[in-house]
Amino acid sequence: MNQRVIKTEKEWKQLLSPEQFRVARKKGTERPFTGAYWDNHENGVYRCVCCGNELFSSQTKFESGTGWPSFSAPIAQDNVRTETDRSLFMKRTEVLCSVCDAHLGHVFEDGPNPTGLRYCINSASLAFSKSE
Ligand code: FE
Repeated sequence: MNQRVIKTEKEWKQLLSPEQFRVARKKGTERPFTGAYWDNHENGVYRCVCCGNELFSSQTKFESGTGWPSFSAPIAQDNVRTETDRSLFMKRTEVLCSVCDAHLGHVFEDGPNPTGLRYCINSASLAFSKSE
């Protein structure tokens, strides 16, 4: 089991850029087509920008046309967790880092086979490591 990472708001603020803090720690959303990774096609691993937890692989990344990096599955089911999000008059499923509770994005049931899932994730919550 992964060890939990717990920090104060002040500590996160010192570690993250203002945009990373707003999205990952305050459940913000980056504007579509503005993030670092929606159009990234390199092979590698997307980690949590806050704690380094491995979240998504380039192998499950697909073109959703939404302007946000989109994945059909996490690297491991245990590396993320979900919560019901009833903000903005919608019922959505929020995706969070299971280690540090960073807000990552939302998961929708209109993704490609075989999972049928679309993890719609903010670039600001991710740190990409290119594989050699
Ligand atoms: Fe994390």
